[in-house]
Amino acid sequence: MKEPGIHLIEHFHLQEINMDFMGYELEANDIFTFHHLIIPNCKKGPYEEWNGAILCGKTSHPYLHVIEQTDEDLFFLLTSEIMDENIKGHLDRDNLLRIRNLLMYFEEKYIDNHACNVKLKEEYFKRPSVDQILTKTRALKNK
Ligand SMILES: [Zn+2]
Repeated sequence: MKEPGIHLIEHFHLQEINMDFMGYELEANDIFTFHHLIIPNCKKGPYEEWNGAILCGKTSHPYLHVIEQTDEDLFFLLTSEIMDENIKGHLDRDNLLRIRNLLMYFEEKYIDNHACNVKLKEEYFKRPSVDQILTKTRALKNK
């Protein structure tokens, strides 16, 4: 990963809490990846900290792009929560809880009703409990 991505991982203490901007845990066989947050890669968005979020390469990152293809409004709501974390400079429990609610809303609307045409993988639903999110963000406060 290039420098701005590495800086984000360091500033947000992601290695220590083993969690990404969407509240997913990094699995042993996975890597943190850089997501172009405000201006996408296809529109030549810069690879810089202000335009970035760190997501897990096999779970949250591909899942977020599936949501982008399926429900643009929901994608923008998730993006605004993640942007808020980027601006705050730390993983915020309120943002993470709202992200979790948005994901659950997506799953209820599209998956439970079989209304999503895009391929979903079981890994996308492997994420820590809300309790674990709270414990980890509490640990961050002491840094
Ligand atoms: Zn991305």
